[in-house]
Amino acid sequence: MVAWRRGMTGLIARARALIGLVMLATLVLLLGCGDLPDSAEILAKPVLPSLRCPACSEALEAIPSADPFAAVVACARDHRFHVLPEGPEAYLSAQAGSFGITVDDGASDRQIIEYWLADPDARRLLNVQLAEILRSIGDARNGRSVADRPRFSSCPYCATALEQFDQPDIWVLGLRCEKGHEFAQRGGRLWASGQGSTERLELRAELSSSELRDLTAGWLEGDRHMDAQLHPSVERVLRRFLTDSEPPSADPADP
Ligand SMILES: [Zn+2]
Ligand SMILES: [Zn+2]
Repeated sequence: MVAWRRGMTGLIARARALIGLVMLATLVLLLGCGDLPDSAEILAKPVLPSLRCPACSEALEAIPSADPFAAVVACARDHRFHVLPEGPEAYLSAQAGSFGITVDDGASDRQIIEYWLADPDARRLLNVQLAEILRSIGDARNGRSVADRPRFSSCPYCATALEQFDQPDIWVLGLRCEKGHEFAQRGGRLWASGQGSTERLELRAELSSSELRDLTAGWLEGDRHMDAQLHPSVERVLRRFLTDSEPPSADPADP
């Protein structure tokens, strides 16, 4: 009887050990060998429905973009909006600062911008705001100047006026059109939310030239978390842009 009990106890202990091993193996599989998102998954280019300009309600048309992974739309009055792929998770963008590439000292800003925007391995690490800044710096280097950022005053789906409405998220402004399409706005970003939204849509109003300078300066302030995402080559582009785009000083002594 005792021997039978001992036998059973041993059997149960072995079964427990086996279950433990199976659970451990499952955990290792989930943590270690689970699929990391690949570039294609992160960088899927957004497909846009037909949209109306939220600033003036004219039709928006796709225009060419220096960013191969973003969609850019513009109206006849040249209000431009960008739709970027979803940015990388924080653990990925925190690897961008130490990404193992050596950029030649002679590389031009244009080459560095093109590399970070277009190379899938680099781009999958690039913070989404840095992608926006790099593309905007490229545009500014090509002579584009934007006095004011386009505003969100009408619905991009149906062109009726957007009105503010009360909603629980204190970090965003709730906007709703006459037909009930609902959006959240924060700064220059507008995204579909709640009732009436059928797809993920996030429009980024083109940065004004002064906002671009301010944002660029913000990335160079020496914040630990931002520095981890800032590769030296990108930092070089940002610093040179800031130096070259100093607003002209209004010195009355100038002839
Ligand atoms: Zn417009
Ligand atoms: Zn609407």
